[in-house]
Amino acid sequence: MAIEFTFSPEQEALRQSVRSFAQKEIAPVVAEMDETERFPRATVDRMRAEGYFGVPIPEEYGGLGLGKVGYCILLEEIGRVDASHGAILGAHTSLGTTPLLYYGTAEQKRRWLAPAAAGQRLLAFSLTEPGSGSDSGALQTTAVPKGDGWVLNGTKLYVTNGAEADTVVVMAANDAKKGPHGGITAFLVDQGTAGFRVGRCEKKMGLHGTSTAELLLEQVELGPEHVLGGVGLGFRVAMTALDVGRVSLGAASLGGMQAAASAALEFSKNRMQFGLPISEYEAVQFKLADMAMRIEALRYLVYLAAAHQDRMGHDPAAWSRADRETKTREAAVVKCLGSEWAAEVIDEALQIHGGLGYIRGTPIERAYRDARISEIFEGTNEIQRVVIARDLMARGL
Ligand SMILES: Cc1cc2nc3c(=O)[nH]c(=O)nc-3n(C[C@H](O)[C@H](O)[C@H](O)COP(=O)(O)OP(=O)(O)OC[C@H]3O[C@@H](n4cnc5c(N)ncnc54)[C@H](O)[C@@H]3O)c2cc1C
Repeated sequence: MAIEFTFSPEQEALRQSVRSFAQKEIAPVVAEMDETERFPRATVDRMRAEGYFGVPIPEEYGGLGLGKVGYCILLEEIGRVDASHGAILGAHTSLGTTPLLYYGTAEQKRRWLAPAAAGQRLLAFSLTEPGSGSDSGALQTTAVPKGDGWVLNGTKLYVTNGAEADTVVVMAANDAKKGPHGGITAFLVDQGTAGFRVGRCEKKMGLHGTSTAELLLEQVELGPEHVLGGVGLGFRVAMTALDVGRVSLGAASLGGMQAAASAALEFSKNRMQFGLPISEYEAVQFKLADMAMRIEALRYLVYLAAAHQDRMGHDPAAWSRADRETKTREAAVVKCLGSEWAAEVIDEALQIHGGLGYIRGTPIERAYRDARISEIFEGTNEIQRVVIARDLMARGL
């Protein structure tokens, strides 16, 4: 087991350039975006132009070829400034491009992956339904064979990028009796396909810049070239994408935690009470120390898990079972701890801000609202504990 790695010069350069991009381009629009709850189209377009839509995708498919480690650097640095922009990139990259990279045919990579990695197409991923969230294998959207193609019918829920995406990876049941193993297929569904439309768009507690949409499928006819990863293999496609998503979510949490802790540290040095900066009081210092411990620990967890995914490469057929199981457990650990530590750190950072932290529109108040979802989406933290416990029962510590 490798427990050390170094960032390449290209990955270091990416960190610097994303950090300055996020400060210069994203930071100025975040407060208004949060207030108006509008998808930040202009800054998303700038992220496309910077190549951020294809950071982990190999150059041969139109990406920057900086691996999962590079991708986590991207989400960490964007996450320092705004969670919505991170979630838009995450839904597109982890959940949209990963299935294409891992399971797409050469033709699917040419038609869908390369334009997505180059920033010409925005992707989304649609597993959740009104009746199936954690129990995603029980989804009800149907895929019925017709000729050499398929007809899809159903209602999907809470799709990040749903109202904005050019293509959505949609999971549907090709054989409900078989359940998740053999009964679910992943389909590539383009906006504009007859019968495919956006339904209700949700108003949310946080992540106000993201689109969270219901998607409706009514007699959507698709040719066989829209099947991604093989008939009946959709659950595997989805879970593999979520392993990538969960590590990158940890990276986004890491960014959010660092921003909150830095803001609290700065604030504490300037806020005078009882004649001293509040940073002089041990109760405040210990909160800051607890934040630093979590940040340090999560940094290792995120990048070790990402480096492991990079070492595994992007051909699932070549993965050993042990590697696959370790990857899934690592992703669950990073997602669960990352989101819970982020919640704790942001909560304590808000506490250090006192009443100001509770005032609408301050960065720490927004961070508090934005962070809550990370314990829920990409599999709730209860489900991450189920995944970890199951692996413990099977393979031990
Ligand atoms: C803003 C937002 C964006 C999202 N983006 C996407 C997206 O892009 N694509 C997509 O497909 N989905 C997306 N989702 C859906 C998200 O992944 C689900 O909401 C999540 O998986 C939980 O499902 P649920 O809401 O149906 O809750 P439920 O599954 O109904 O869970 C309710 C509660 O019961 C607990 N629970 C359920 N089963 C168990 C069990 N076996 N053991 C212990 N506890 C259990 C859960 O942990 C939770 O606390 C998004 C959701 C939101 C809110």
